[in-house]
Amino acid sequence: MMEKSFVMMKPDAVQRRIMGKILTRFEEKGLQIVAAKLLKIDEDLAKEHYGEHSEKPFFNDLVSYITSSPSFAMVIEGDDAISLIRKIVGATNPKEADLGTIRGDFAMDMGRNIIHASDSPASAEREISLFFNEDEICEYKIADDSWIY
Ligand code: ADP
Ligand code: MG
Repeated sequence: MMEKSFVMMKPDAVQRRIMGKILTRFEEKGLQIVAAKLLKIDEDLAKEHYGEHSEKPFFNDLVSYITSSPSFAMVIEGDDAISLIRKIVGATNPKEADLGTIRGDFAMDMGRNIIHASDSPASAEREISLFFNEDEICEYKIADDSWIY
């Protein structure tokens, strides 16, 4: 089923200048970037985005990490994109994430784990609308996709 997921490279990915490498993984897999922007997340947006974690002990650190520097927010579309992207991203704790995943290959620390991706269709819908207006999402066809898969 065609799905859209909300994916965001966090401030550590931007600071480390590895955005291109990460983006390439999604493109090479055959997923389609349908919206993208660099933005500095403010405290209100960070708290809203991570609302489900507001009672967790790491919440304040998480909010200060995510607001510390710009992030690169995207909407990525593809067949079963939501679960597929979670697989490409890897486990939350980068030390447990399999090698070959983004977190497994690029990160060491739970509090600096490089990237966010929606965990379900309901989260994807909520997160996409939190970060993007309808008119910022591009519907387009790749002219000839017969080589991708
Ligand atoms: P995921 O990003 O894999 O969906 P969660 O939704 O559980 O993971 O947590 C959201 C984010 O909060 C994580 O990506 C990570 O940046 C941070 N986080 C989660 N657990 C911890 C923790 N125990 N210590 C520090 N930061 C954490
Ligand atoms: Mg999550």
